[in-house]
Amino acid sequence: MIYDLHVYINPHAEEGEIYEYDTYARMLHMDLVGFVIHYTPTMPEKLLKNFRDILSTFSIRTLAGLEIHYPPKKFPKGFDYYLLHFSNIAIEADMLKRYHEVIIAHPFAYGAKINEDILPILKGRKIGVEFNSSHYNDKFRWFYEKCKEYGINVTFGSDAHTPQEMGEGFEKGKEFITPLENLEVLRRKDYE
Ligand SMILES: [Zn+2]
Ligand SMILES: [Zn+2]
Repeated sequence: MIYDLHVYINPHAEEGEIYEYDTYARMLHMDLVGFVIHYTPTMPEKLLKNFRDILSTFSIRTLAGLEIHYPPKKFPKGFDYYLLHFSNIAIEADMLKRYHEVIIAHPFAYGAKINEDILPILKGRKIGVEFNSSHYNDKFRWFYEKCKEYGINVTFGSDAHTPQEMGEGFEKGKEFITPLENLEVLRRKDYE
């Protein structure tokens, strides 16, 4: 079962370009692809809706996600999941206690730091962490081992910016990645 919850789509891309992701996902035998756009508060609602509408016509199983910079001003409604992007900050338990069912994207990238004190709150608030293959390094292995021990959702994200890169690096994280059917961090539960 291969899924990828971090496939970037440019919301301004041509429809034809977006449909290439559907074609490739089938070729790559992806079981589910979560597409994300990088949210900015100035994005018109129509653009967000259009993005979801296109995904709903794909032949593969899709989810529509948003990646939002921390601290988020709001979580626009209607998305299946939310990735939180932290930069140049140590992620502390205090910062997370207002959120639930979100996913911390690439927790060791862009100057973010995370340590194991945070694990109980992640568990308690159903906050997941991403195994991001573009930013993974074996020195972070301990962290994912701990997540597994605590029963924290570890989602897979390739950070693909092209259709060819979807699912890349899934094997590297396979032992830590939470199976799709056990994910508690998705807002939409009926993705079967
Ligand atoms: Zn990011
Ligand atoms: Zn991203």
